[in-house]
Amino acid sequence: MEKKKALVVGAGVSGLAAAYALGKKGYSVKVIDRNPHAGGVITTSEENGFKAESGTNTLMIPSQRVLDFIKEIGLERDILSASETAKKRFFLHGGKPVAMPMSLLEFIKTPLFSPLGKLRLMLEPLVKKFPADANPSVEEFVKARFGREALENVFDAFFAGIYAGRTDSLAVKYAFPPFWNFEQSGGSVVLGAIKARRKKASSENLFKPMVVSFAGGMGELPRKMAEALGEDAPVVNARLTQIDFEGKWQAAWSSPQEDDCDEFDVLVLAVPAWDLAKLPVGGTLAEAFEPLCGIPGAPINSLTLGFKRSDIAHPLDGFGMLVPQKEKCSILGTLFVSSMFKERAPTGYATLTCYIGGMRSPELAALPDDEIIPMVMEDLGRLLGVSGSPVFKRMFRHSKGIPQYDMSYGERLEALNTLREKFPSVALIGSYIGGVGAGNCIENGLKVGDRF
Ligand SMILES: Cc1cc2nc3c(=O)[nH]c(=O)nc-3n(C[C@H](O)[C@H](O)[C@H](O)COP(=O)(O)OP(=O)(O)OC[C@H]3O[C@@H](n4cnc5c(N)ncnc54)[C@H](O)[C@@H]3O)c2cc1C
Repeated sequence: MEKKKALVVGAGVSGLAAAYALGKKGYSVKVIDRNPHAGGVITTSEENGFKAESGTNTLMIPSQRVLDFIKEIGLERDILSASETAKKRFFLHGGKPVAMPMSLLEFIKTPLFSPLGKLRLMLEPLVKKFPADANPSVEEFVKARFGREALENVFDAFFAGIYAGRTDSLAVKYAFPPFWNFEQSGGSVVLGAIKARRKKASSENLFKPMVVSFAGGMGELPRKMAEALGEDAPVVNARLTQIDFEGKWQAAWSSPQEDDCDEFDVLVLAVPAWDLAKLPVGGTLAEAFEPLCGIPGAPINSLTLGFKRSDIAHPLDGFGMLVPQKEKCSILGTLFVSSMFKERAPTGYATLTCYIGGMRSPELAALPDDEIIPMVMEDLGRLLGVSGSPVFKRMFRHSKGIPQYDMSYGERLEALNTLREKFPSVALIGSYIGGVGAGNCIENGLKVGDRF
């Protein structure tokens, strides 16, 4: 019997995971990407012993399923766990990096919050919960539940770290579902979290999410994922010229490797939300995904700088440092990459990856390198005691990097659900649905195999 066929448009980790899962279900899969390489926003560049990631520096493995997949594609031996020292998370506070308190004693002592701010945080279980049909922004939710200090000193920076976003334009129930769900189920975020923890401890599902990278850098992940597709390896540098539906999906594409067309039973669109509108799709499918095309993407630059270790005064004993808006810096935060994972810099050197732009200051992301680098150096000198010039520099720019689960996200999800009902042979996946983390993207890609 002839195999069923699937077309996957987009060879980022979402598309690659979907292609793998469909291949395992017996589909013959064609993966098309317009980029010269598979992996989407994930690539690693290496020069003189310094590694720089274009996007993802750390992969949070969210489930046993994703861990099993990583093993299945032969990456288990290359997994690098984040070092013990990387457990500390710093927040910039009053111009100084302050570690996030991890115990009650540290909480009592931390300068991150004033005594009144600490009291306000502890009163969270007494705050009335939001009505189930409310749609508060992260700012409204955090301010109401934890107080203004918590918002301005920590959460503002936390959401800049995950989404490069602004707390006033992210919807809490979609941008950070655990918060909303804990509050709704337990009457308070804290009580709901305790309840959920107890439930998990007594259940079979004891998987503990892991933060990892790979020996050769994050780029190893999509490289191995593409390799695992065997003869269904992605066609890159490809331009889709047509997608129509006549009983089956008919598509045509053009690339230096091949100009071809074919018919498919299943169509998987694994491109970013803002690229959906550019696909050569017309008619009712294009109308159905129109509300998703408007999902905003935060512009973000990732700048990795390498220094002599002796040129950085800070011990770099942590994961990195997040920067709240009120600190008025040019960076959203910086990762202490060479403290987290070995072989990111030659012996005696260290790398820092800084993020610039986001929804907070999109104009900074558009500046040329020779204006951004001195600005970042000024921040690093002041905040971490960096002196001397960087011996390694690498900037990656994403004009739309991270999708925003914004205040209209509920309506966008409704459109997605309608689309699923109307077009049962189409799957839409990507970081704009079900979480922006690369681990979430892989998990949701694998789930496409459960559906078809
Ligand atoms: C700067 C930055 C830092 C990040 N840091 C982290 C982190 O530390 N940890 C973490 O978990 N996540 C992080 N992320 C998020 C994570 O990397 C992404 O959410 C995830 O990799 C997205 O994968 P994707 O496959 O959905 O999309 P993408 O990687 O964007 O892939 C989409 C693919 O679709 C292709 N495409 C688009 N249009 C077409 C078309 N018309 N025809 C053919 N192909 C097309 C593109 O070329 C691309 O290859 C970061 C993201 C950025 C931008």
